[in-house]
Amino acid sequence: MIVDRQGRRFRNLRISLTAACNYACTYCVPDGKRLVAAQNELSADAMARAVEYLIEVAGIEQLRITGGEPLVSPRLERFMSQVGQMKLADVSLTTNGQLLSRKLPVLLNAGIRRINVSLDTLDPAAFRVIARGGDLQTVLDGMQQARAAGIRIKVNMVPLRGQNLDQVLALLDYCLQRGYELRFIELMRMGHLAGDRNAFAQQFVSLQQLLALIGERYPYQQTDAAADATAVRYRIPGKGIFGIIANESVPFCRSCSRLRLSSTGWLHGCLSSSNRHYVGDLLDKPRHEALPALQRLLVKALGDKQPVAFSGGATVMKIIGG
Ligand code: SAM
Repeated sequence: MIVDRQGRRFRNLRISLTAACNYACTYCVPDGKRLVAAQNELSADAMARAVEYLIEVAGIEQLRITGGEPLVSPRLERFMSQVGQMKLADVSLTTNGQLLSRKLPVLLNAGIRRINVSLDTLDPAAFRVIARGGDLQTVLDGMQQARAAGIRIKVNMVPLRGQNLDQVLALLDYCLQRGYELRFIELMRMGHLAGDRNAFAQQFVSLQQLLALIGERYPYQQTDAAADATAVRYRIPGKGIFGIIANESVPFCRSCSRLRLSSTGWLHGCLSSSNRHYVGDLLDKPRHEALPALQRLLVKALGDKQPVAFSGGATVMKIIGG
C-alpha cells in the first residue's frame, strides 16, 4: 500500500469515462462550447483493466464513474458490466441526469444502487442559462424513475451568486420531500476560475452564507460523515439530511483519499496540481511490467496532494472528472 507522510492513501477512484458532455455549464466551460470526446480516449476494456490494476496496486475500494457526462459515452455499457464483476465496496456514478431514464437499465444491470445528479436550479429559464444544454423536466423525470427503481439519489448543486441563490431553499425543499440528499458544492477555482479572481469572487457562495440562508427556514444540526468524506453533513430534524462540500470554507485535503483517471489515460493525484501521470501505455504491457511501473507513478501522484487546502487548478472539471 502506498501511504504518504500525512497517512493519506488512495482509496477512492474517480474515472472520467469521456470528456464529452451534453451540457456546457457556465462555471465549467466559459466559452459555452460543448466538449466532445477526445480522439485518444481509452477503450472500455483498457479502462476496466486500469481499475483492476489500481485496486491491486493502490488498494482502491470505491469507484465513481464521472466525466464529461458518463451517460453519453458509447463505452458505458461494456465498462459497467466489467466493473460489476470487480471487488469494490462501492460503485457510483455522477451524471447530469439528461439520459438517466434511457440508461437506467444499464446502471441497474451493473448493480449501481446510488448516483449523484447535478442540478443547479429548478427554474427552467435559469437552467438554460447555466447548463446551456438539456431539458430540466427530463432530469427530474429521470431522477424519479431511478428512485422508483431503488437507486439512492444525491443531488449536487453549485450555488452561484446572482444566478441561482433563490434556488437554495427551493431545491432543498424539493429534495427533502423526495428523500434525495442535497449536496451544495462550493464553487471551486478550476479552469478559467483559477485565473480570474474577480469572476470567482463575484459568484462564490460560502458554507456560512448557505447555512445562514437555510437557518432562516429550518433548524439543523451537524451530523456524522465518513473520516475521508468531502461533505460536512447536517440533519434537519424530522425532514432529512443535506451536505455542503466546502472546498474553501472547510478544506479536506488532509484526509483526501481520491485518485482520478482521465478518459485519455492520465492519473491525477490532486485537483489542485497540474501534474499528471500517463498510464495509458502501461495497460497493454504484461502484468509483471505494468504493476511496478504503475506503483512508481502512484507514488508521484500521491506526492501531488496539497498538505492542507485546495488552492485552485488550471484543469477543467470536465476533463479531469468532477
Ligand atoms: N456531467 C456529470 C455531471 O454533471 O454531474 C459529471 C461531471 S461534472 C464535471 C461533476 C460535477 O462537477 C458537477 O456536479 C458540477 O457541478 C461540478 N463542477 C464542475 N465545475 C465546478 C467548479 N468550478 N466548482 C464546483 N463544482 C464544479
